[in-house]
Amino acid sequence: MNATHEVMNQSTPFVDVNLFDSDRALRDALAFNLPNYDAQAMWALGAEAGSAQAAEHARLANVHAPELRTHDRFGHRVDQVAFHPSYHALLGGALRHGLHGAPWSRPAGAHILRAAGFIVYTQAEPSVLCPVSMSYAVTPALRANAPLYDAWSTRIASTQYDGRFAPMPRKTAVTLGMGMTEKQGGSDVRANTTRAEPDGDDAWGRRVRITGHKWFMSAPMCDAFLVLAKSANGLSCYFLPRWRLDESINVLRIQRLKDKLGNKANASSEVEFDGSSAWLVGEEGRGVPQILAMGAITRLDCALGTAGLMRQALALAMHHCAQRSAFGRKLIAQPLMKNVLADLALESEAATALALRLARAVDHTENGNDASGHEALLRRVLTPIAKFWICKRGSAFAQEAMECLGGNGYVEEHGEGAMARVYREMPLNSIWEGAGNIMALDLLRALRTGPVGDALMHELTPARAHHAGFDRVAESLPARIDGATDEADARRLARDVALAVQAALLKQHAPAEVFDTFCASRFGDVGGGGAFGLLSARAPLDALIARASPHG
Ligand SMILES: Cc1cc2nc3c(=O)[nH]c(=O)nc-3n(C[C@H](O)[C@H](O)[C@H](O)COP(=O)(O)OP(=O)(O)OC[C@H]3O[C@@H](n4cnc5c(N)ncnc54)[C@H](O)[C@@H]3O)c2cc1C
Repeated sequence: MNATHEVMNQSTPFVDVNLFDSDRALRDALAFNLPNYDAQAMWALGAEAGSAQAAEHARLANVHAPELRTHDRFGHRVDQVAFHPSYHALLGGALRHGLHGAPWSRPAGAHILRAAGFIVYTQAEPSVLCPVSMSYAVTPALRANAPLYDAWSTRIASTQYDGRFAPMPRKTAVTLGMGMTEKQGGSDVRANTTRAEPDGDDAWGRRVRITGHKWFMSAPMCDAFLVLAKSANGLSCYFLPRWRLDESINVLRIQRLKDKLGNKANASSEVEFDGSSAWLVGEEGRGVPQILAMGAITRLDCALGTAGLMRQALALAMHHCAQRSAFGRKLIAQPLMKNVLADLALESEAATALALRLARAVDHTENGNDASGHEALLRRVLTPIAKFWICKRGSAFAQEAMECLGGNGYVEEHGEGAMARVYREMPLNSIWEGAGNIMALDLLRALRTGPVGDALMHELTPARAHHAGFDRVAESLPARIDGATDEADARRLARDVALAVQAALLKQHAPAEVFDTFCASRFGDVGGGGAFGLLSARAPLDALIARASPHG
């Protein structure tokens, strides 16, 4: 009892909830894509990510943002970033659970399990997953330089995080970053001006000296970066470590840290190279296709990350609405709030389904488990689809979930700031590694690269003849994916393919009411613009809410 009033009708902290166990949609999607998954590993990850300790680490890592130290007290350049211990604790957890480069040296299924883990761990704190995701993406590209890969791969796959600034041989594990974007162009990397001059050969292969800059280079405390630079033979990919082969410090001038909308716990920097040592990865002049291959992997992570953030926002909203009363009833019992929560639950489950299906396509193509080539085609087309649609829905989703909490949702300290952080994080997944238009254009390119359309239509088969609205959209697709789509119509096509694939997946691993309501609301004439809560009043709202509830 306060002196002036009794504090009541506020919800409790959403902590000490197993974020895997309490996510029925994720468990069903994972079981569909990887029937014999390691449930114990996922359970342990879910418990850790949902713990009160993880929530406190996330709060501290965001409140105490990284600090750039360009020089030491004597005036020497040091170019280091200091992070709060909580950031290191969270990043260490992500490595311990193998969310970084580890799946590349593990047996079939590892990428799917890692994808589910990524969805869960994002809910602890997405900022640390930036270097984790880049390490995951850079690892396979490094195979194009065998001596380098041999020298670094053990530490790339190591689960024993080592945050020290030290040469690779003296560390237990390393993390990797990527530097493509320059001031004059990000999506169009052909505009890059950073250059590479030959500098001989050594045990790591062909060495160059790189001079120029990157306008965005996140997680600059990583141990090495894959950077794009122009050699005499065109744009090429180079491996640029913080320490050279002889264990001297390489030149990497961190000019500034970006002052970002969100993603506060992670450092994103502007850097300059000045004769910096780097080693060629792959063929000279083939930098663009190599970067695109890496981009395809980080785009998967953008989709996974957004699916995770959606689930987090939904769980926070449901947790609050189950405890908070207004006008004589719990919010979760108010018919209109039920509609909003049920609609968010549909969107969240559909995002999880699509992102994990893409992860299965990655797993099968990487592990030689794709004799028919179907998974490779599907991977090519689902990457831009999932990145475009899931990320595009993310911001609207976060806003609606935040609104379920009323004014509390807009306040930093509610839920340890989690809802505000989710809201700020959402646009990032949509922008980086190819913003919406770039993804929609990539879809058009994908459709021109072989029988991708056939693979897509095959994927829709399980849901055919179950819902008239779904059938109508599915039947319209062959003509539109036949290369006839106008560039200006690419977003509409991307949306329609995404919805159709999501529906087909829900048909296979969600209860009938989820599939039926998803089709009725996404293919019917209910169209809601950016708003949620426009399901039919006759929709099975209670069943949808019960399935999505984080409390069973
Ligand atoms: C927090 C953060 C961290 C980042 N970290 C990294 C990093 O570690 N490494 C790195 O290399 N980069 C990083 N980036 C950069 C990011 O990948 C780029 O910002 C992104 O790829 C977009 O490039 P751009 O900013 O140059 O925008 P532009 O390429 O100028 O695009 C601007 C807009 O134009 C649209 N557009 C572009 N071309 C077309 C077209 N042909 N038709 C229609 N529309 C088009 C785009 O979709 C976009 O909406 C980071 C960005 C952020 C915000």
